[in-house]
Amino acid sequence: MILVLGGAGYIGSHMLKVLREVGEPHLAFDNLERGHLAALGESPFLAGDLRQPNDLTRLFAEHRIDTVMHFAAYIEVGESVKKPAEFYWNNVYGVLVLLEQMRLAGVSQIVFSSTAAVYGEPDYVPLDEAHPTRPGNPYGETKLAVERMLAAFGDAYGLRSVCLRYFNAAGADPAGVLGEDHDPETHLIPLVIQAALGRRPSIKIFGDDYPTPDGTGVRDYVHVLDLAKAHLLAVNHLRRGGASATYNLGTGHGHSVKEVISAVERVSGRPVPVEIAPRRAGDTAQLVAASDAIQRDWGWRPQFGQLDQIVEHAFRWFEAHPEGYRTPL
Ligand code: UDP
Repeated sequence: MILVLGGAGYIGSHMLKVLREVGEPHLAFDNLERGHLAALGESPFLAGDLRQPNDLTRLFAEHRIDTVMHFAAYIEVGESVKKPAEFYWNNVYGVLVLLEQMRLAGVSQIVFSSTAAVYGEPDYVPLDEAHPTRPGNPYGETKLAVERMLAAFGDAYGLRSVCLRYFNAAGADPAGVLGEDHDPETHLIPLVIQAALGRRPSIKIFGDDYPTPDGTGVRDYVHVLDLAKAHLLAVNHLRRGGASATYNLGTGHGHSVKEVISAVERVSGRPVPVEIAPRRAGDTAQLVAASDAIQRDWGWRPQFGQLDQIVEHAFRWFEAHPEGYRTPL
């Protein structure tokens, strides 16, 4: 059985849906600090906190878990700069507690959500896994710290792990009942959609003087369901006895902020009011993934690789749920 930590969050809840669809036994675990009960769907759920060892002791005693997926982290870069203690406490200490409890319970497989933020300012794009890791903020530092902890636990205790370095997770399940609901929202696609829907006065473009074709920041937006499907491949790999591995997850295509705004205008049929604002601290000009390794090794392919599909699915969610999960499903 798979344990999905952070199952009530944005990516975790899409993972649960994929697991339900393939009939894979699983259990969701979440402290509901930032997740949403309604996002759990029909998946079995246990409330608890990673930082409370007893919560996990009981869980591992009562359920036959063979593989853990970890989605239970804080993710916002700006917040990590202001509150590094909370980020290390949740993102690093929480995983240490988890790994200790896994060791005690004899659970030796984990799929870990890592991030392109481990690379920091790119020396070259697209970024492959061999690119040096020099995180530019505490968020990226916490993710890299866990990657290293997993490697050390692998060497010493035989833990096997897959680290998936996501680029920009985006989109939503096309059925429109699952989606992104962060408070506050800081991510580009939700904010642009909310501006198109008239729920925000405008979208601020954080810098139009980057060395990119149109001067705005370029990112690799990857559909949340494609991320979830990569996790299934990772579980299969670990269950076959595969060795620990680290892979990028992105489409290999970069899109500028202006391109995202145009895509939202196309998909929604509405104009998006735009303001040019200064660059946001810590942002890089371009982050684009080379995902050749996971494509070659496991045959992963983004099913929803087109920006317009990603935006369309996100738009369906926000149009039907203007208040996120507070809008009745
Ligand atoms: N961005 C922007 N305005 C916003 C939010 C984001 O121009 O209100 C830009 C940001 O500078 C970056 C891109 O959109 O170039 C993606 O930002 P997001 O916060 O979604 O993800 P990140 O790449 O920071 O993880």
